Amino acid sequence: MLIACPYCGPRDLSEFTYQGDANRTRPNPMSNDQSAWNAYVYERVNTAGDHREFWQHSGGCRAHLVVIRSTLTHEIKSVAFARETAK
Ligand SMILES: [Zn+2]
Repeated sequence: MLIACPYCGPRDLSEFTYQGDANRTRPNPMSNDQSAWNAYVYERVNTAGDHREFWQHSGGCRAHLVVIRSTLTHEIKSVAFARETAK
């Protein structure tokens, strides 16, 4: 599988590190809402289809990326710098 890093171009998956689901929203750090923190820490959606994920080009430019990847086919639909994407 190749991921097209915006800086480096298409590179092998072995150069990248998966850093988690990019769909989650962290609760306010001052919040004492235990259910919101439990949901943030423990609950995950097992998506069948396009999934928004954080990846780092750890074997290259070290940029943090947001990748849209199909969990059914592993097709990479888009790659963007994480700093330029706001959910
Ligand atoms: Zn790169």
